[in-house]
Amino acid sequence: MQNKLKKVGLLGMPFDHNSSFTPGAAQAPEVIRRILTNGSLNSGTENATELKNNPQWIDCGDVISDQPSQFVEDIQSSCNEFLSNGIGLLSLGGDHSVSYPILRAYAQHFDEINILHIDAHSDLYDSFKGNRLSNACPFARIMEEGLCKRLVQIGIRTLNDHQRDQAAKFGVEMLQMKDWDPMQIPTFQGPVYLSLDLDALDPAFAPGVSHREPGGLTSREVINIIHHLDSPLVGADIVEFNPLKDIDDMTAQLAAKLVKEVAGKMLLSLAK
Ligand code: MN
Ligand code: MN
Repeated sequence: MQNKLKKVGLLGMPFDHNSSFTPGAAQAPEVIRRILTNGSLNSGTENATELKNNPQWIDCGDVISDQPSQFVEDIQSSCNEFLSNGIGLLSLGGDHSVSYPILRAYAQHFDEINILHIDAHSDLYDSFKGNRLSNACPFARIMEEGLCKRLVQIGIRTLNDHQRDQAAKFGVEMLQMKDWDPMQIPTFQGPVYLSLDLDALDPAFAPGVSHREPGGLTSREVINIIHHLDSPLVGADIVEFNPLKDIDDMTAQLAAKLVKEVAGKMLLSLAK
């Protein structure tokens, strides 16, 4: 199946049991929704899409998963149901482990999908601290199962030898931060899924993350990447916001702004 999406749904994934360092990301969906609705920002996006009272923009609530051992199946089946009903998903993590089950569902609905992954980390560990579903591993699982046509990573600045080996083994295309050129936005053929880990941004812009890694992207650079994507954006996740590490809602406000701009791009990408 190709793009038959008619709506965009906001879907919370309040899980952080696969966080490899510190908990807190499970509280992110609730905090981001509070910012989106507390009147601190308006509902227009920069690309002139109006979110308020837009029948194509809906809130799908949160994925329910009571058993940590069942979270892959629970997220995958929930996403699968929404996609079957023509609803493209803008998912709010949660830690980054949620992307693997989301992409499992997307692979059932799109013959070939490209992933744009923006992150300080490549998240390609075969296993981390004994957990193959850790937030350090989702893209190893995605590549092993062949869930995408291309994986392009931006913002990476934490590679070690193991992750270099994994990237080479899986044919991952990487624009490392040390070589970053803001004008160098990757181009795609066919639908794109965006996986946005907020620690890709410099901690000066996004202090509310579990793994602060200096030397990152600016808010404007990330927004420009979203706006200038040259292919339909059919799904996205915004992950690793940790309200327990935030300063005066700075990162919450950024996450809400990014939700708006990603939603605007996804709404423009819906099947006509
Ligand atoms: Mn990540
Ligand atoms: Mn990261």
